[in-house]
Amino acid sequence: MKKDVLGFLKIKRQANVYRDILERIKDNKDVLILKKEEDTKNQACRCMDCGTPFCHSSCPLGNIIPEWNELIWADRFQEAFKFLHSTNVLPEVTGRICPALCEASCVLGINDDPITIRDNELFIVEKAFSDNFIKANPPKIRIHKRVAVIGSGPAGISTAYFLNQKGYEVTIFEKDENIGGILRYGIPDFKLEKYILERRIKILKDEGIIFKTKVNVGIDYKVEDLNKNFDAICIAIGSKVPRDIKIKGRELDGIHFAMDFLINANKSVSGEKIKETKITAKDKNVVVIGGGDTGADCVGVCIRQGAKSVTQIEIMPKPPKERPLNMPWPKYPTILRTSSSHQEGGKRYWEVSTKEFIGENGKLKALKCEKVKFGLNKDVHGKLLMNIVQNSEFEIAADLAILAMGFTNPEKTGLLENLSVEIDSRGNIKACDSDFKTNVDGVFACGDARRGASLIVWALFEGKSVADNINEYLKSKK
Ligand SMILES: Cc1cc2nc3c(=O)[nH]c(=O)nc-3n(C[C@H](O)[C@H](O)[C@H](O)COP(=O)(O)OP(=O)(O)OC[C@H]3O[C@@H](n4cnc5c(N)ncnc54)[C@H](O)[C@@H]3O)c2cc1C
Ligand code: SF4
Repeated sequence: MKKDVLGFLKIKRQANVYRDILERIKDNKDVLILKKEEDTKNQACRCMDCGTPFCHSSCPLGNIIPEWNELIWADRFQEAFKFLHSTNVLPEVTGRICPALCEASCVLGINDDPITIRDNELFIVEKAFSDNFIKANPPKIRIHKRVAVIGSGPAGISTAYFLNQKGYEVTIFEKDENIGGILRYGIPDFKLEKYILERRIKILKDEGIIFKTKVNVGIDYKVEDLNKNFDAICIAIGSKVPRDIKIKGRELDGIHFAMDFLINANKSVSGEKIKETKITAKDKNVVVIGGGDTGADCVGVCIRQGAKSVTQIEIMPKPPKERPLNMPWPKYPTILRTSSSHQEGGKRYWEVSTKEFIGENGKLKALKCEKVKFGLNKDVHGKLLMNIVQNSEFEIAADLAILAMGFTNPEKTGLLENLSVEIDSRGNIKACDSDFKTNVDGVFACGDARRGASLIVWALFEGKSVADNINEYLKSKK
């Protein structure tokens, strides 16, 4: 059947939906319900195959989106998958939890709802798994040069995949028990079930990538051995030093960093032994400080663990519901985002600052907060200043406070110190974004450790780009 080129005028956007709230909060399974093939084809038919596809240029990976949409419509799923996989080694992850920068710049979005690009991506890759046309594809020729990739998050996986495809002998070192970085221990199962990682890791192993877990490089494995055993090194260790809040009462029992809480939650869902301090939200009044993705994930976990109440507070103003005038198409706008976790319960407050943690017998009992206002005045650089609203103090009962205010930089002790890698003014690894080289010959860096805490799609892009640069470097060393 011929594609209806006027599909975008006739078919309305139909995005993947979530499972019923009352059902999904009782388990940790994926909240998403995938669309059926016929519905996905209809959604692909909305694509206008633009002469200048802004979706393609706004995706950091340069995903070849109009082509997949055309191939979905034509029932040519194997070819669609080939296009998808040529730029992205983890479409099963981005298809679920990427914020879809592409959709914000879809041309149809100017005067209608954009194409369901992310859902289409997910459909293609899940079809590749269910119909068995994704297979291990080891390189035909091996180049006998060895590369060490340190860190097994999306940046490390992407680096290793593209280098291995070029024929290099690649070893990924990971200090945790299991592969995946934040995908494994940060993001909860209801957003990303762990079988999705296992399925991919098996393929990568079959393609020849060596994984060494429980090895903290720089401490358990000396940098002298790295230099001796490998021709190039890529540092992809992420950025996990959490931003703290140094106010009265910070030492009280019951105040934890978000990643510590999420590591606990992920390990308890997968049945992995928890070596860290045990943290649970069960029967507690919880306050999550920080209104971003990490905070939202904590809200969803608290609800599933049976918290008495969950409140998320954010110091910045509530974003607008619609694209504001100063962020016109095709920009990715700052708008109010309501995640599946927010739909499930809890309260959200904006323009709230935490003044003090109040305790009793060493244990957290409440947060003393006050209201703040932005926009009344600006600093010399034009940045909006924060003003405290007089007499606006209030308390929120809390036996557990989760600090989800972002991350400042990668861990310096161990690997970075011992490799003598230069650090930039923001505390990240200094490596230029054109060649990803550090100041040390043969040592490259990518992902959150280089660019600062960011997104999976950027980590994947940096991994792909660093692989090209390592290839050039090793070729020049012949
Ligand atoms: C809770 C949470 C939720 C998020 N949700 C989303 C989302 O929905 N969508 C999105 O796009 N982004 C999301 N992000 C951001 C995204 O997860 C990160 O940008 C991405 O994981 C960065 O990838 P990376 O490979 O650079 O680092 P990481 O994923 O942090 O991986 C780094 C790895 O290096 C290992 N390592 C560190 N030091 C050593 C060493 N010395 N030796 C060996 N191994 C070492 C670490 O153990 C870790 O496994 C989220 C982040 C968090 C914290
Ligand atoms: S911008 Fe939107 S409509 Fe145009 S090619 Fe990309 S997905 Fe299709």
